[in-house]
Amino acid sequence: MPVVIDSDCINCDMCVPECPNEAIIMGAAHYVVDLDKCTECEGFYSEPACIPVCPVDCMTLIADTKA
Ligand code: SF4
Ligand code: SF4
Repeated sequence: MPVVIDSDCINCDMCVPECPNEAIIMGAAHYVVDLDKCTECEGFYSEPACIPVCPVDCMTLIADTKA
């Protein structure tokens, strides 16, 4: 279940240093999560480290789209 960032992202950079996998990268208009790198912080934290630091709540866990 990776995290996705929606268009409410204000590019505040708060989440970027929280990610142990460097999965949060700048996209065309706002930050996005590299779905191949996001592990939901497994092995590092008990829950996603990025979601709680986002000031606009634009990060969401989604169901894994891969089989
Ligand atoms: S859930 Fe963890 S691994 Fe995934 S983007 Fe957020 S901080 Fe990075
Ligand atoms: S913390 Fe939220 S608003 Fe800030 S860059 Fe990350 S996703 Fe965007």
